[in-house]
Amino acid sequence: MKTYHVNENGYYGEFGGAYIPEILHRCVEDLKDNYLKALESESFRQEYAQLLRDYVGRPSPLYLTGRLSRKYGCRIYLKREDLNHTGAHKINNTIGQILLARRMGKTRIIAETGAGQHGVATATVCALMDMECIVYMGTTDVERQQPNVRKMQMLGAKVVPVTSGNMTLKDATNEAIRDWCCHPSDTFYIIGSTVGPHPYPDMVARLQSVISEEIKKQLAGCEGRDYPDYLVACVGGGSNAAGTIYHYIDDERVNIVLAEAGGKGVYSGMSAATIQLGKKGILHGACTLVMQSEDGQIEEPYSISAGLDYPGIGPIHANLYASKRATILAVDDHEALAAAFELTRLEGIIPALESAHALGALGKLTFRPEDVVVVTLSGRGDKDMDTYLNTHTYGLQV
Ligand SMILES: *Cc1c(COP(=O)(O)O)cnc(C)c1O
Repeated sequence: MKTYHVNENGYYGEFGGAYIPEILHRCVEDLKDNYLKALESESFRQEYAQLLRDYVGRPSPLYLTGRLSRKYGCRIYLKREDLNHTGAHKINNTIGQILLARRMGKTRIIAETGAGQHGVATATVCALMDMECIVYMGTTDVERQQPNVRKMQMLGAKVVPVTSGNMTLKDATNEAIRDWCCHPSDTFYIIGSTVGPHPYPDMVARLQSVISEEIKKQLAGCEGRDYPDYLVACVGGGSNAAGTIYHYIDDERVNIVLAEAGGKGVYSGMSAATIQLGKKGILHGACTLVMQSEDGQIEEPYSISAGLDYPGIGPIHANLYASKRATILAVDDHEALAAAFELTRLEGIIPALESAHALGALGKLTFRPEDVVVVTLSGRGDKDMDTYLNTHTYGLQV
């Protein structure tokens, strides 16, 4: 049977693998040898499930919208990852990885962050587990994401500003990899999305797969069938999308719709629509679609949403695109903003700007009245209030 899951060499079709410096070889091999055994062990599963329930607040609700459904003429459910502790899906992954780090005897945790959401989720679990925490963050992001920087510091993490390149996420990731090379034996690198060398994309997808596991149970309860007609999620690196589709990926009855950030327009030169603009290349340890110039230099992505402006994409998603399993839509800044205000006014829920890109895809699809649509609301909008309140600069009527 055809499957879209990873093969034993860490590939999804032609994408994936582990392209790493020699010095990290041992580390990554160790992780590869340990992660499945650990994740599938009874003691890990119990501890993980209990923290997801009592600490994160899972299962997150699957909410059938009323006014939003009427507007689009179908049955739209929201998977409420915005209600998790720390306000997004990222905590599902950091809890799993820190449990694994502890099992592997690591004492020092490093992470990269762009908007600061993954940094906060990592600093949170490091406080919980009493582990040293170092978060690399581009100086540009440190300046524009001050509330998250202060949260990380209050949680006890050391935030290291990175001044290379564009001083954003890509540069923070480079610096985290450099740190890892210097401390391969005692350090665990908690990657925040389905990116990086194998086994990270598969490990992060598995840790986020609780999202689709719950959707299945919840739909069976309220719709009498455990699958939807459409799954819709936004993609930065791809972790909330991977979690949303994980248990449906081989079920061809389910349409998969991935919303990437169009920025000011896919061909405007200011975009983060990596799947549509990217060419095959190697970024941060994996072969995937990468925004790059003719001679292979990484191009700077742009999106109004800091969580989506990454020049690469998970190898899972590159393969879903190449094999035509998923529909990829670019949602521009102004469309995401309009969708955020629409959800807020119709349902009383202020979404994260990233999640607003998934909502912005609804208007680009045609539904039948009986269609069941699940949109993953990856996070809440508190962190984006400044952007929302300044939207008059985008000419948006509020
Ligand atoms: C980080 C983030 C994203 C993008 O990351 P993925 O790995 O693509 O899920 C999306 N939504 C929110 C709320 C985030 O914090």
